[in-house]
Amino acid sequence: MILLVEDDVAIGSSVSQGLAARGFPIRWLRRGAELLDQVNAGEVSVVILDLGLPDGDGLDLCRQLRAQGHHMPVLMLTARGTLDDRLEGFEAGTDDYLPKPFAFAELVARITVMARRAQQLAPAPISFGSLSVDQAKGQVLRHGEKLTMEPKAHALLLQLAARRGALMPRQTLIDTVWGEDSSITDNTLDVSISILRRRLAQSAPELAVRAIKGQGVQLVCSLIP
Ligand code: CA
Repeated sequence: MILLVEDDVAIGSSVSQGLAARGFPIRWLRRGAELLDQVNAGEVSVVILDLGLPDGDGLDLCRQLRAQGHHMPVLMLTARGTLDDRLEGFEAGTDDYLPKPFAFAELVARITVMARRAQQLAPAPISFGSLSVDQAKGQVLRHGEKLTMEPKAHALLLQLAARRGALMPRQTLIDTVWGEDSSITDNTLDVSISILRRRLAQSAPELAVRAIKGQGVQLVCSLIP
């Protein structure tokens, strides 16, 4: 799915309708705050990101996305078009850049290339016991089926499963799931860990989250000897 983050209603609706009409599955968000949750919920293959959003800067969002280990291509839309702006964008981890106003045909051409490249470059899924982790899509599958849950719990599961049972320090988990600039407390992490534990107890009893004091958090799978 293509995720479009754009607060301008005219651009947002024409791009989302236009891409949908050409057969691209697309979701349009008007605010940046929902981007990471959507990506962590899985199935996002390409992100189209507006630079100036009412609740933040597209470049900061792109940095957060990369810090969380998401590698899908990001196309930045922006009215600012100087060389410095473009270089700053690439530094933040964007792959391509389209200045406004743009011709719709050019957007479609670039998105098509990015979607194809995303498919080719996607790293092989990581397996861990009953789980398969597709980091490019931000997706965790259990015996091939999607495990749905609250977005932060899903992001935790993704990070822990990708490390295949290795201990992850609590601060690293907080930085990758909530972002380095977040001021969330240990308590918030514990709440999300309990949500994840409850979900696993219901639908994936072979998996458990183990927290070791002073060392970190790990995912254990009883199918692995
Ligand atoms: Ca804007």
